[in-house]
Amino acid sequence: MSDKPQIRPLMVMLFIGLPILAVVITPLWAWYAGFTGTQWLIALAFLYLNGLGITAGYHRLWAHKAYQAHPVVRFWFAVWGAGALQNSVFVWASDHRRHHRHVDDNDHDPYSAGRGLWFSHIGWMLRDYTTNTEDFSNIKDLLQDPILQWQHKHYVAITAFMNIALPIGIGVLLGDIMGTLISVGLVRLVVNHNVTFFINSLAHYWGTRPYTEANSARDNGFLAFLTYGEGYHNYHHIFQTDYRNGIRWWQWDPTKWLIFGLSKVGLCWNLVRVDNFKIQRAIMDTTFERARRQLDQHDNCPLREMLEHEYAAFSESVRQWRELQSQRYEKHKEALGEVWTQRRAQLQQRWEQTQLRDQLKLLELNLRNQQRRVQLLLEQSQSLAAA
Ligand SMILES: [Zn+2]
Ligand SMILES: [Zn+2]
Repeated sequence: MSDKPQIRPLMVMLFIGLPILAVVITPLWAWYAGFTGTQWLIALAFLYLNGLGITAGYHRLWAHKAYQAHPVVRFWFAVWGAGALQNSVFVWASDHRRHHRHVDDNDHDPYSAGRGLWFSHIGWMLRDYTTNTEDFSNIKDLLQDPILQWQHKHYVAITAFMNIALPIGIGVLLGDIMGTLISVGLVRLVVNHNVTFFINSLAHYWGTRPYTEANSARDNGFLAFLTYGEGYHNYHHIFQTDYRNGIRWWQWDPTKWLIFGLSKVGLCWNLVRVDNFKIQRAIMDTTFERARRQLDQHDNCPLREMLEHEYAAFSESVRQWRELQSQRYEKHKEALGEVWTQRRAQLQQRWEQTQLRDQLKLLELNLRNQQRRVQLLLEQSQSLAAA
């Protein structure tokens, strides 16, 4: 007898059975009855509504508290997220917080990439693994939310309504119940499942690691395109509270754009953005580490001295930045603590703040220039290794 944990038949049906059914039934239906463009457009809309319910709601709002949202938005994400059939927010967020806390630890990370691509994609849900044991002690902040309590309690009913009743209703309106059930119900569900699961599987295997090499998470623009912006997973694992995953304006992150847009109309607030200097510092730390490792392969390499020189300059920038930050904090406290009656004093205060801000900006710029120099150094040492 196998000593593997017990199989979960319902999960096998959902995650193995439904994809097989979709692959068989969709071409047959397309051949014998045919789908309409409208059906596929509605399926695409559902795909995005489900996907964003998970990424903007389940993930960034609830699991990471990257921002706060109006009850209407929370209700919307709770309903569409449930429609994605990935369990209630309580279960999802609790698992996900464990994933971040114990990333790559095969005994504690529920979908540890260390246990293989298949396991981290779907395999982890198919058996009663000990890492799946429900433990809500890490989501105490969410347990009090009445919308989430309602969603958890009625999860099966909500998800049945979103995945069966709603597509049937639309099918009645379009005059083709079966075709709509296949396209908007089945195909959309299977596609959404698998693209979301790419974040746990492929985004821990394939891509670059510009911000940290401490875990297996990768940045991957192609995966970001498929996963509503969640493919910048290396950034996300080091700065998980940031409401953005793709931090550059051009990086494909519709989840970030949605949250930002909602904040502009007052439906979201307190969006967390990690300081640019801290981000740049993480990039530098990783580049230095990589360069050191590379140079360690050669004895007495002249580049080594240059690298250490750059590192000293980098440490000095970090020290100055910390000092400026604490000065800024002090000034801010002063401004809050005292009642400023004189106009002159106010102007003085504002001028000092501007000075500090400019100095911080300059430091950030210095770091960016240094990043280029170290990158060059790294490339030189790589060509040295190749020679
Ligand atoms: Zn991850
Ligand atoms: Zn996360």
